[in-house]
Amino acid sequence: MSSLSAHASGDPAAPSFFGLGRAALAERFLERGEPAYRAGQLFSWVYRKRQRGADGMTDLPGALRRDLSRYCDLALPPVASLHASPDGRTHKFVLELSDGARVECVAMRTPRRLTFCISSQVGCALKCSFCATGLMGLRRNLRPEEIVAQVVIMGDHTAWSDERFNLVFMGMGEPLANYRAVVDAIRILHDARGLNLGARRLTVSTSGLAPQIRQLAEEDLAVGLALSLHATTDALRDELVPVNRRWPLDVVLAAARDYGRRSGRRVTLEYTLLAGVNDRPEDAERLGAIARDLPSKVNLIPYNPVPGLPYLRPSPEAVEAFALSLYPRAPAVMVRQTLGGEIWAACGQLGGLSAGA
Ligand code: SF4
Repeated sequence: MSSLSAHASGDPAAPSFFGLGRAALAERFLERGEPAYRAGQLFSWVYRKRQRGADGMTDLPGALRRDLSRYCDLALPPVASLHASPDGRTHKFVLELSDGARVECVAMRTPRRLTFCISSQVGCALKCSFCATGLMGLRRNLRPEEIVAQVVIMGDHTAWSDERFNLVFMGMGEPLANYRAVVDAIRILHDARGLNLGARRLTVSTSGLAPQIRQLAEEDLAVGLALSLHATTDALRDELVPVNRRWPLDVVLAAARDYGRRSGRRVTLEYTLLAGVNDRPEDAERLGAIARDLPSKVNLIPYNPVPGLPYLRPSPEAVEAFALSLYPRAPAVMVRQTLGGEIWAACGQLGGLSAGA
């Protein structure tokens, strides 16, 4: 499929601009005889003034503008295909990476906010039993520039119409299994001279890699943490989220509790409702106790069915009954609106259009 967007071309030998923190970029300028403050100028042009090529960067000397590709590469991955939901509120982007791998990211607009859902890996190794991405297996980790580029591409597409967009690492892959690249990307996104994306607007979702949850708590980033719980007993969670066999509920919940204490933020428990599997009254009772104990807020997600997988979405009445039984037990409960199911962009469905990449 042909590229849908025009992007600046760069010297392939130079590192991608989008994977460089400001300090690393300043070092590159210094090494090549340019003042370090050029890094701040370039961050401002690319991230704040949305300039995608060197030509318009009027406060850089002409020679530097001509030679910029020696310092860094401003190219973004092309959008191989773009899929809009019928109501126009959800857009799924399939990006083509330099090695031909494809990765997906989703922009969702609700009346209250714009949210970008980004991927951290091509595919995923964790094989949660209800997830389309897990069916692909892991192709590879994304590099920091491939993570940051997803945000820039979706921002450009939405004309940066909402400066207050939120970012969730809930696309393809387990973010904490690609720990270094994800943290490096978060630091670039945080930069006050760049996108200045505050920790409050950023959430990392994990299926429960307890050691990395503890490591993230040490980073002093205070981003939100969402734990994909989906089951309240080890027996069922072993089946739905197999990484539970490695770090069972008591271990992962202890790590999440410590993360909440250190970050000063309430952890979110993601709970996908699967008809007849985890939506019984006793599940609600146990989930309420876990949520109270952490403490945490609960996001209930009615399942988005994936062809070939045996799970079904509970009826609206069953979802309501589960939520009603949870409300008095848990500190905060939300039922997530399912956006994008028509274009395979909903939670757990990424990979359905690009699995052949
Ligand atoms: S739910 Fe997340 S962690 Fe589990 S297989 Fe899917 S992408 Fe991987």
